Amino acid sequence: MLTSRLPSRVEPYKLAAHGEHLEGLVSLADMPRLAEAVGEQHGDAQVWLHFTIDAQGRRGIEGHLEAELQLPCRRCLSPMAREVESDFLLGLVTSDALAADLPSTHEPVLVENEQLNLLAVVEDELILSLPQVVYHDEADCQVSRDQLSSGAGAVGSDTPSKSPFDVLKHLKGKH
Ligand SMILES: [Zn+2]
Repeated sequence: MLTSRLPSRVEPYKLAAHGEHLEGLVSLADMPRLAEAVGEQHGDAQVWLHFTIDAQGRRGIEGHLEAELQLPCRRCLSPMAREVESDFLLGLVTSDALAADLPSTHEPVLVENEQLNLLAVVEDELILSLPQVVYHDEADCQVSRDQLSSGAGAVGSDTPSKSPFDVLKHLKGKH
C-alpha cells in the first residue's frame, strides 16, 4: 500500500536519464475532467512509474495505476464502486510533430519546458481505462427490469450519456 503522494510536476527527461522509479498516491478529487465524465470522485489512485530510455534512445514512462472509482450505474444512475486499473507506455515528445514518429505501442505525452504535469497524465489514463458502461446486479439496482420494460426506467437506451472518450478527444484537441 502506497502512502506518499506523487509529485504533481516532474522533469521527465532528467528522471529518464537516471532510470528513476516514482510511486505514490494521486487524489481523485483533483480531477475535473474525470468528474465531468463519471461524477465527483473521492480517495486516491495508486500509481507506479518507471522513467526509461529504450534501445532506440526514446524517453518514455512505463506506468501502472489502480483506483476504486464510483461509477454511475447506467440503469439507475446511482454510483457503484468499480476497480479500474491500467498499464500504459508513454513516449515523451517535445512537439506534436514528433508524436507522429512514435511507434503505435507508445502513447505520446507532450513535455513543455522540460516539465510534465503528472496529475494530468494520470487523469488521462484513468479516463482512457474507464469501462464504457456499468450496471448493478439486477437485485441491487434501483430500477427493476419491470420498470425498464414498461418504459418507466430512469435512463432511455436511446439517450447515451457522454462517452469518456469524447471528453478525452476534446482535451487532446486543445493542445
Ligand atoms: Zn443500478
